[in-house]
Amino acid sequence: MNASNPDWSHRFAGRMDGMHASEIRELLKLLARDDIIAFAGGVPDPALFPTAAFADAFSAVLAGPGGAQALQYSASEGHGPLRAWIAARMGAQGMPCTADNILITNGSQQALDLIGRLFLSAGDTALVQAPSYLGALQAFDAYEPRYDLLPGPGDNRTPAAYTAAAGEAGGSAKFAYVVPDFANPTGETMDLPGREALLDLAEGLDAAVVEDAAYAALRYDGAALPSLLSLDIARHGTIDAARTIHCGTFSKTLAPALRVGWVCAARPLVDKLVLLKQAGDLHSATVNQIALLRVLEGGYDAQVEKVRAAYRARRDAMLAALERHMPASVAWTRPRGGMFVWVTLPPGLDGAALLRRAVAEAGVTFVPGAPFHALGGGANTLRLSYSLATPAQTETGIARLGALVAEMARAA
Ligand code: PMP
Repeated sequence: MNASNPDWSHRFAGRMDGMHASEIRELLKLLARDDIIAFAGGVPDPALFPTAAFADAFSAVLAGPGGAQALQYSASEGHGPLRAWIAARMGAQGMPCTADNILITNGSQQALDLIGRLFLSAGDTALVQAPSYLGALQAFDAYEPRYDLLPGPGDNRTPAAYTAAAGEAGGSAKFAYVVPDFANPTGETMDLPGREALLDLAEGLDAAVVEDAAYAALRYDGAALPSLLSLDIARHGTIDAARTIHCGTFSKTLAPALRVGWVCAARPLVDKLVLLKQAGDLHSATVNQIALLRVLEGGYDAQVEKVRAAYRARRDAMLAALERHMPASVAWTRPRGGMFVWVTLPPGLDGAALLRRAVAEAGVTFVPGAPFHALGGGANTLRLSYSLATPAQTETGIARLGALVAEMARAA
């Protein structure tokens, strides 16, 4: 470094103190190599993107009478007909609402950032699961919250206990964030009593519920459970009386690069989020929203079915390989959808240490579990994604990983 380069560190806002690049993410970035068997990234398989449908949609939109308008600035709320399409679909899934309840965001990731900005003053409490989606923790971190954990099984901490703890930390409990269906990172689904208990707790706290439904469409077996928003609407009669903020996305079913997601919530909440969206980036890309709507109208259900069939087969291959190759001391989840299996190693084995050896000796990547824990712990856990590996790669990769785990367990 040149001695005259400014030292910025004391000039940054205090909120930057809590924001760090994850070492593991940096390591994994270096490993986007063809010879690596990747169970790390939770990214969709590009072979499943409806690329031809998007090519047709973009050229029809741009060559059509509205072509120039599709390149113009547009409303912060999002493209009206797309909001109406989403509202109709939400209605069909037990969440009756209108286009006014929908805000289009740049992926659901932006929704998480806007929700953090709307609710969290420094020192306020966000209730999260352990483990939680890392990207949500990163989005909230910028607002300097305190985290507390949602009750686990058999734990009956009262709303009063949560409120007291939040008050001692200098704020109040503002929202509970959950991924109820096929969670990132665990693959697990909240059962119906769990959903009702979460709504009870949120009502007791007078807090919001943030329902991240990123994987909800990717169900491989069983029947869909009612969303938190639908249960909340059933309790209170209308969406405008509900406290649940439902975040959806087309990233996992269509294509993430379009960056089209949405928030579906009570009108007063959507109105505030629109203000923040406007201040942040004015609006999501006009042409992307219009082209995406054409693709939706051309047959979204068939696309979702195609994606589900592909990932279902990969989920099955991953579970079968784990069954064959993992030592008996290892446990893992059996997801009914989504992209992830969560693995628990015997106590004392370390997921990060396993990753270092897996990369060097087995050509396999995954994400160690500790960073998903807002309050620490989880060193002996890891997340495997099955969205990219072929069944043959999965078989090879899990066999190598199983052998390494067995060796480390013997040495421990
Ligand atoms: N929520 C969860 C649980 C996710 O796994 C992801 C993507 N990794 C997102 C939200 C954000 O996705 P997007 O912004 O592409 O909608």
